[in-house]
Amino acid sequence: MLNFDLTEEQIQIQETAKRFANDVLQPLIWQAEETETFPRHLFKVAGELGLLGITYPIDVGGQGLDRVSDCLVREEISCMWQSFASSISGHSHLATWPIFSFGTETQKTEYLRPALAGEKIGSFALTEPEGGSDVRSIKTTAKRIGGDYVLNGSKCFITNAPICDYVIVVAYTDQDAGMGGMSLFLVDRDTPGLVISDKMKKEGIRGSETAELYFEDCRIPAEGLIGLEEGRFPDVLRTLSIGRIGVAANCLGIARGAYETAREYAKERQQFGRPIGSFQGIAFKIADMVSGIEMARWMVYRTAWLADRGRPCDVEASMTKLLCSELAVSIAKEAVHILGGYGMMREFPVGRYLRDALVYETGEGTSEIQRSLIARSVLGFRSS
Ligand SMILES: Cc1cc2nc3c(=O)[nH]c(=O)nc-3n(C[C@H](O)[C@H](O)[C@H](O)COP(=O)(O)OP(=O)(O)OC[C@H]3O[C@@H](n4cnc5c(N)ncnc54)[C@H](O)[C@@H]3O)c2cc1C
Repeated sequence: MLNFDLTEEQIQIQETAKRFANDVLQPLIWQAEETETFPRHLFKVAGELGLLGITYPIDVGGQGLDRVSDCLVREEISCMWQSFASSISGHSHLATWPIFSFGTETQKTEYLRPALAGEKIGSFALTEPEGGSDVRSIKTTAKRIGGDYVLNGSKCFITNAPICDYVIVVAYTDQDAGMGGMSLFLVDRDTPGLVISDKMKKEGIRGSETAELYFEDCRIPAEGLIGLEEGRFPDVLRTLSIGRIGVAANCLGIARGAYETAREYAKERQQFGRPIGSFQGIAFKIADMVSGIEMARWMVYRTAWLADRGRPCDVEASMTKLLCSELAVSIAKEAVHILGGYGMMREFPVGRYLRDALVYETGEGTSEIQRSLIARSVLGFRSS
C-alpha cells in the first residue's frame, strides 16, 4: 500500500531541524561566510540535538531513525545554510559510516560515538591532485612496517580538514593489486607526519572549511586500519553511493531556499505599478521552479525509502544526485535573475545559493561520473 505521509517521528525531527536552522544557524551565517570560518561549536550543539547521527543505531550514539528522516533534516538545514549541511555531510556520513560499518569496537568507542555527539570532528580523504573522478589514480600508500602503517602521499579539497580531530584516509596497501589493494585508515589530526594546509579559498560553501593534507612518513598503529587490509574499495564506493542520497537532499534544500526567496520577492517587488510576479515572464519561472522542486522531492524521498528497505538503489542515488544538483543550480540561477540587481547583492542569499549549488555538480562524484554510472547500468558497457 502506498503511503506518502510522514510518521510522527519524522515530523518531530524535521521540526527540530527547522528550529535549529532558524534559531541557531541563521544568526551565524553572515559572519561565517564573510570570514570563511566555520563556527566549530555548532557540531556540539547539533550533536546534542541528535542531528548528527540520525540513521545510526541508538547503541552507538545515534537516533535509530531512517534515511527519510536524515533527508528531511538535510533539506531543512540546506534550505537555510549549505556550508553547515556540507560540513555535517563530510562528518556524519563520510567520516563516520565506514567506522560504523567496518570498524572495530574500539574504533566505534573512540571515534564514532564522540563524532555522533559532536565532540570529535571527522574528515574523509579520498581525492588527490592526480586522482579525482579517476579514483584508481590515487597515489597515497600505506606500508605495513612492524606493528604500524606508514602513510605517504597527499589529498586535496578535504571538507572539515582545518578543524578536524581525525581523518579517514583512503590509501593503497598494495598498488599491484589495483583497486583490491585499497584500504581505509583512521589518522588522528596530531599524528606526526600529517600536515594540514591553510584553508583553501572557495567560491561556494565558504563557511565550510576545506584544506589539503600531506602525509610524510606518517606512522599510525595497525589498529588504525578500518576493516580488512585488502578489498576495501567496494566499501569506499558504497560509502559514496549512500552519501549521494543525502547530497541530493542538500540540493533540494538549496533549491527550496532559492525558490522561496524569489517567490517572496516576486510578490513584493513592484514595477510598472504591479508586482513583478504578475508578469507572465516571472510567473512562469516561479511555476517551473516549484514544479522542479516537487519532482526533486519525490526522487529524494523515494530513493531514501528504497535505502531504508535495504533495496539496491545505487543507480537511483546517482540519478537523484545528478538531477537534484543540476536543478539546484538552475533554480538558484533563476532566483538571482528574478531579484534583478539585488540578486547580485549579498544582503540577499540567492547568489550564495547559486555558488553553493555549483559545488554539488562536482563534489561527491561529478555530473559526468553520475551519467556514466547510470548509462552503464542501462547499456551494460562503460561510456567514454
Ligand atoms: C567544496 C568541495 C569539497 C570537497 N570535499 C571532499 C572531501 O571531503 N573528501 C574528498 O575526498 N573529496 C572532496 N572533494 C573532491 C571532489 O569529490 C572532487 O572534486 C570530484 O570527485 C572531482 O574530482 P576533480 O576535482 O579531480 O575533477 P576531475 O576528475 O579532474 O574532473 C574534471 C572534469 O572532467 C570531467 N571528467 C572526468 N572524468 C570523466 C569521464 N570519464 N567522463 C566524462 N567527464 C569526465 C569531470 O566530470 C569534470 O567536469 C570536494 C570537492 C569540493 C569542490
